[in-house]
Amino acid sequence: MNIERIETFLLKAALTGNDRFYSSQAPFGDRNSLVVKITTDDGLVGWGESGVSMPLEHVQTYIHDILAPRLLGKPALATEPLWHELYAFSRDFGRKATPVDALSGIDIALWDIRGKEAGKPVHALMGGAYRDTVRAYATGLYYREEDLTDPKGAASRVREEATAYLEAGFSAIKGKIGLLTARDDIRRMEAARDAVGDEFMLMTDANHAYNRHTARTVGNALHELGYWWFEEPLVPEDIEGCAALRSELGIAIAGGECEYTRYGMMDLLRAGAVDILQPDISACGGLSEGQKILALATAFHTPVCCHVWGSGVAASAALQLTAVIPPTPHTAAPRAAENDPIFEYDRTRNPLRDDLVVGGFQLVDETLSIPQGPGLGIEIDTDVLEQFTRKRGESKR
Ligand SMILES: [Mg+2]
Repeated sequence: MNIERIETFLLKAALTGNDRFYSSQAPFGDRNSLVVKITTDDGLVGWGESGVSMPLEHVQTYIHDILAPRLLGKPALATEPLWHELYAFSRDFGRKATPVDALSGIDIALWDIRGKEAGKPVHALMGGAYRDTVRAYATGLYYREEDLTDPKGAASRVREEATAYLEAGFSAIKGKIGLLTARDDIRRMEAARDAVGDEFMLMTDANHAYNRHTARTVGNALHELGYWWFEEPLVPEDIEGCAALRSELGIAIAGGECEYTRYGMMDLLRAGAVDILQPDISACGGLSEGQKILALATAFHTPVCCHVWGSGVAASAALQLTAVIPPTPHTAAPRAAENDPIFEYDRTRNPLRDDLVVGGFQLVDETLSIPQGPGLGIEIDTDVLEQFTRKRGESKR
């Protein structure tokens, strides 16, 4: 069974009105995903997703100009040697970012094919699941335009949104910090704590918006408010700074979404830079690399919770890997986020997450089911795919 055709779909969903938001760093006016489709000469089809951040046009070009000529005609089930070959090819000029983003979507699509060929979900081929559901946390408390012009009013808007997640059945939220002053953002996080109470799990994500000094001030305040983790306090290059914060602060440091492959993750782990490692399966090298990152994390006794941001394809791949994350440490009583994974579930408007994929996973209150069908366990709604496709690519034998 050989690779016959590689297609890519650059999807864009415009956000309008109140659906537009700011992360800790930048405004979001649309949502983008690069979906990869691989077809074998037997007619089996696998789906994957490449990259996390916008823009993704260069990743699409890389797939067709650089990777496709090295993949067409090759055995589709040989995920391991293919990964090795593609990574080795780009080693001298691209050990991170675009080449690895591109490789990730290819690898996920090939795992989808492997599962469909075997009639089993990916997690079964990876050795079996520790769980068939996972507790989700709501990623939210983003910034709206009005927060920039009226930062003092931001706290009451956070209170309202946190209450809505509580009422929707969540018991864990991750909120954004870093765009306003440290004082205004601490006030926002106080408001969230006040809204949901002491038993509720709260985390924050700074999208590397701070320098070391500000991160220390904010981290101390978050610890006092009982926040569970402080995600990406510093730029990803400042591994030493993260390691220092981790020893200075009481709050756990999370990170890894901007890092690539086992080699990048090894740098974080060796330096003692994170308490929780957060690979993104659509960027870090795909499911093949995800498995190796899990093995590495166990060697450093570090829990893994995937970073998840893309379409329903990316979420399904992350759920498949989440099924095989071992509890850290082993326990008869798994507790999400403490010794067992908790799953990132972004709550901003994204039709690529909610409408593109049919079946697979459902959220009930705060629990997500892990897809049980063959491969990733999902079907693609081709009408939705067409509707949001802005640029298509194709490479054929
Ligand atoms: Mg993050």
